[in-house]
Amino acid sequence: MNEELNSINPNDVVSPRLLSRKVKLPLATTEEILIDLSYEKIIGVKYIVTCRNPQEDFQHAFTFSQRKELVKFILLKGRKCPDCGSPLNTDDIRVAFIIMEQQLT
Ligand SMILES: [Zn+2]
Repeated sequence: MNEELNSINPNDVVSPRLLSRKVKLPLATTEEILIDLSYEKIIGVKYIVTCRNPQEDFQHAFTFSQRKELVKFILLKGRKCPDCGSPLNTDDIRVAFIIMEQQLT
């Protein structure tokens, strides 16, 4: 797992699904490990919500470093995209993992 993480460039977004295939661990286990690592500040977590603009090219994505911020944003905007007014896709909140640059030295 360490080796796999070291092969990822700093500030790259890590997809738990891709990583779990690489390290041959179940997705749930991989996600647990990534969350543990994020508590140790080895990797960063980003929460991403997109809007449901019917034209896929015009869908907006909003990224937050804390789940709290994301929830606040969704409630504050009345579950609507501030850019186009489409509903926010709150059923599909994505979690992205990012390798912190300073931790790799
Ligand atoms: Zn939008």
